[in-house]
Amino acid sequence: MTDELTPVLTANWADERAWKLTNYERRGGYQALRKALSTTPADVMELVKDSGLRGRGGAGFPTGMKWSFVPKDNPNPKYLVVNADESEPGTCKDMPLMMASPHTLVEGVIIASYAIGCRYAFIYCRGEVLHIIRRLQQAVREAYSAGYAGKNILGSGYDVEVVVHAGAGAYICGEETALLDSLEGRRGQPRLRPPFPAVAGLYASPTVVNNVETIASVPSIIDRGAAWFASMGTEKSKGMTIYSLSGHVKRPGQFEAPLGVTLRQLLELSGGMREGHELKFWTPGGSSTPILTAEHLDLPLDYEGMAAAGTMLGTKALQCFDETTSVVRTTLRWIEFYKHESCGKCTPCREGNWWLVQLLKKFEAGQAQQGDVEKLLDIADDIGGRSFCALADGAVACLTSAIKHFRDEFEQGMHIPAWELFPYERSALF
Ligand code: NAD
Repeated sequence: MTDELTPVLTANWADERAWKLTNYERRGGYQALRKALSTTPADVMELVKDSGLRGRGGAGFPTGMKWSFVPKDNPNPKYLVVNADESEPGTCKDMPLMMASPHTLVEGVIIASYAIGCRYAFIYCRGEVLHIIRRLQQAVREAYSAGYAGKNILGSGYDVEVVVHAGAGAYICGEETALLDSLEGRRGQPRLRPPFPAVAGLYASPTVVNNVETIASVPSIIDRGAAWFASMGTEKSKGMTIYSLSGHVKRPGQFEAPLGVTLRQLLELSGGMREGHELKFWTPGGSSTPILTAEHLDLPLDYEGMAAAGTMLGTKALQCFDETTSVVRTTLRWIEFYKHESCGKCTPCREGNWWLVQLLKKFEAGQAQQGDVEKLLDIADDIGGRSFCALADGAVACLTSAIKHFRDEFEQGMHIPAWELFPYERSALF
């Protein structure tokens, strides 16, 4: 829902070579950094706190508060790590942001580093997206040559080194502590929290881990002020954000809007569902957030609105499925993904997702038996809340919510066989 306040994060995406430093500067790029460096780190932190910015990676933790958890008296170095390992199914907001406007992120990194007193910042990016890694590296090089990164930034006496690090392609490395293990050169597996990274993160030192979009929102807050940012959105979910719409919509893509917009409004922007079809179910934040149905089209897409509906805003990845979709088959696909991506560290996740896949395959083949729905729920109950990290909770959320809304489809074992919907897939199946 664009109005006079938005777009902000996506404003320059359609510009000619928007990723080049000169074009970014032409639109006022790096003015926020100048402004930030002319104030104290504490002022910058206070401004971000006042803006009400919350983490855009999924959990919505208040950003300024997270920054303030970094202990001032800890003699170890402080680190900023940007989580650019976007991998949640359906989530595609950070990748386009880094591709179109990498300097928005780089500028945010330097401002955030200044605020928390960090001299080494890392951008941890998915290894598969080589084109984005190259683009980020190029942007960082440009920032160094222009004096926005490195030593004595803009003559302020402040130094920060910015490193782009390529992951090796594991969904679990988007979990912040697994990411830190991977960054340290170890196999990416989650650590026990607490201690949270803000206190003991990278190399056991205070580390702020923030999502790409969160950090990319910082320059506009410094530039236009906390009140400007807080004037958008809802009471507790402030500001604008990027929603990614995918699935059976006419025009999938990224849509920037204030928090609190509804899916109905976003569907208007994306041309609605494909011709002749209706919405059956959708995810608010990718497959790790409980699914919703057409009944929920008018709910505010903010942290509180989604929590009240028994789900989560998550990554704001709105995957929309029409009536031709088998909810059983979709759930199986999702659980297969989580089974594949489980790091194997804890038993409920490693074994539980494997069992769910076996059972769901029976439903998919129309061979489920009396009591198998209860068995699915029972296994899900043994996984959710009993695993080491949020991966497993996310995995079962799609299943339990699918059963809640479409139990009859599971009970009847009456999904629509894939080959009836997609005849061309038949050769691949047999
Ligand atoms: P979380 O709520 O446990 O933590 C959120 C953030 O707040 C973390 O950085 C954590 O360190 C910090 N935090 C929380 N309590 C703290 C405290 N007391 N002191 C200091 N810091 C504290 O959530 P999570 O497990 O980090 O992430 C789960 C979210 O990840 C889900 O909401 C899901 O939507 C999202 N997710 C995103 C992707 C993606 O591709 N972007 C993929 C999978 C999952």
